[in-house]
Amino acid sequence: MTWMNKAAGGFPLYVDRARGASVRDIDGYDYVDFALGDTGAMAGHSPGPTVRAIRRRAEELGGLTTMMPTEDAAWVGEELARRFGVPLWSFALTATDANRWALRLARAVTGRPKILVHSYCYHGTVDEVLVKVGPDGAQLEREGNVGAPVDPTTTTRVVEYNELAALERELGYGDVACVIMEPALTNVGIVLPEPGYLEGVRSLSRASGALLINDETHTISAGAGGATRAWGLEPDMVTIGKAIGGGVPCGGYGMTAELAERIEAMPGLDLVDWGGVGGTLAGNPLSVAAMRATLGEVLTDEVWTRTTALADRFGDAVEEIVAEYRLPWSVSRLGARVEYRFCDPAPRTGGESAAAGDDDLDDFLHVYLANRGVLMTPFHNMALMSPVTTDAEVDRHTEVFGSAVRELAG
Ligand code: PMP
Repeated sequence: MTWMNKAAGGFPLYVDRARGASVRDIDGYDYVDFALGDTGAMAGHSPGPTVRAIRRRAEELGGLTTMMPTEDAAWVGEELARRFGVPLWSFALTATDANRWALRLARAVTGRPKILVHSYCYHGTVDEVLVKVGPDGAQLEREGNVGAPVDPTTTTRVVEYNELAALERELGYGDVACVIMEPALTNVGIVLPEPGYLEGVRSLSRASGALLINDETHTISAGAGGATRAWGLEPDMVTIGKAIGGGVPCGGYGMTAELAERIEAMPGLDLVDWGGVGGTLAGNPLSVAAMRATLGEVLTDEVWTRTTALADRFGDAVEEIVAEYRLPWSVSRLGARVEYRFCDPAPRTGGESAAAGDDDLDDFLHVYLANRGVLMTPFHNMALMSPVTTDAEVDRHTEVFGSAVRELAG
């Protein structure tokens, strides 16, 4: 993809093989992989149970895509319900599609035209979400939005994360169908909720008649049921993709029974034909077999104890180095995910977070680390722990990060 050329150093590494938390490139160099396909490979590369399930579906049972559900679909639906607390699930092939379909349903059921997002959010290549709050508070289209069908400020209201007064004002117009959010921002660096923010979002959205959609695609790092379960949140819908298929394209959106009843009660809503919600390959047998194995045998509830401890080991070591060199940097943690930021304290809004970015420093660190066998998430200083990442791999990062900082400081 063209965007891969944005990789630090001017070109992406080409992969020869990848297993667990390790990647080998086509020149034969080995890396510890903390990018893990930006969460798509959070289960580790090619986890055994997922690979066996793919083989079984492809070779023994057959049926890669059928436009008919398999029994695995029921199992995965129940498991997602158990984890995220919303009982009724449909499948997609990407998180982008899960979000697009959730947004359509939200607009349909509320009869309202707009959605509300946080400034500098990312929910995939969804037309409506590429907006931000400008320096003077203006609502603006994000720069570089390619071929938008309409200016997204006509479809979308946008507020800074952690700013309840702005949220209350924008919801007050009464035209917002839903708030779609990551419970913590992860796509402009990690931005964590201040105490009371998420409760405020829930009560304000409820009071204004807007639905709340939690996009857990990245925040699943907070726990087996994402931030939704870890923090006791009560969304009307949850969307997810990436990690739950162990690397096989997948996605899903779930909703409360109450919302499902409202949707079903709507006369003339076309959910069974070409109404814009659904796709031919969504929920295909291969994708669903991969989700069942990954959720059932790889990314199990117990795994987060270990991966969160690894992320803490990583974050603690970085904090020590940052303190030693008195850098104005900080570390943000989200369960199995950890990130260092070039500002201290850590940013509290997407706008602050974007302003704290430093592309040259980012590129330096990525190239320095990659040249010494450590891969970080591209365009972020973010590290994600898989169930098979080891202490030694974390310590390898510490060692290389320490020497990068020493050279910078020198
Ligand atoms: N939602 C969130 C929170 C994401 O971080 C991303 C991708 N980074 C997406 C949705 C879109 O995922 P995909 O590109 O797999 O559709």
